[in-house]
Amino acid sequence: DVEIKGATKQFGSNIVLDAIDLEVKQGELLTLLGPSGCGKSTTLNLIAGFLEADQGDVYIKGKKVTKVPPYKRDLGMVFQTYSLFPHMTVYENLNFGLKLRKISKAEQKEKIDRVLALVKMSGLEHRYPRELSGGQRQRVAIARALVVEPELLLLDEPLSNLDAKLRHELRLEIKRLQKEIGVTTIFVTHDQEEALSLSDRVVVMNAGKIEQISTPTSIYKHPKTEFVFQFIGKSN
Ligand code: ATP
Ligand code: MG
Repeated sequence: DVEIKGATKQFGSNIVLDAIDLEVKQGELLTLLGPSGCGKSTTLNLIAGFLEADQGDVYIKGKKVTKVPPYKRDLGMVFQTYSLFPHMTVYENLNFGLKLRKISKAEQKEKIDRVLALVKMSGLEHRYPRELSGGQRQRVAIARALVVEPELLLLDEPLSNLDAKLRHELRLEIKRLQKEIGVTTIFVTHDQEEALSLSDRVVVMNAGKIEQISTPTSIYKHPKTEFVFQFIGKSN
């Protein structure tokens, strides 16, 4: 569904991605896991189109999108820090992307009601972001990414600002939601437990390279490199 072929990205003399090859299958939840600075967000930004690789290409549904701008890539993205518009209510935040579509007000409301129910935020559509807890804001951010029914959902450490209990809860919800809608999802985290519990497949990254791509069980039981062994073995 999504493919990266030979992507290299350099900032100055710093090679941040070194000839990355990656294939994401239709409907799967794939996690990019690795230490801070290993190139996870850079990889996501290449797929989203916020960055262009120095070498290599990105394909979505078999089509080369290297030169396609982000808003034409049919994807939803949630960032690590709250990315809601502070001066808009929950409803207005969700409607922002929908307004560009040629659909009626009633259809807009129907879509918004449906995703708010999915993320368990029904009834809070008139609140402003400042009137929500951190977990609720991230739920709304996920709902906003989903409301346009994207082909691809990109989640860059969406839970890292939350406390351990809430992170655990929302992690399970994301998994449930992802399976329910079946949207192809790339999830970024540096938390090994999160990656192993959530994913269909995990990509372990280190210093701009991919160390291993496999199922959580196989990564855990058969780490391919010393780095994977050390990184997975380390508890947070
Ligand atoms: P974290 O877990 O801390 O979010 P990450 O794996 O997402 O880390 P990236 O954000 O992809 O890491 O960054 C990879 C490397 O690229 C880092 O060394 C970072 O300093 C560098 N980098 C990222 N963006 C830029 C930029 N716009 N200009 C210069 N260097 C950058
Ligand atoms: Mg990052």
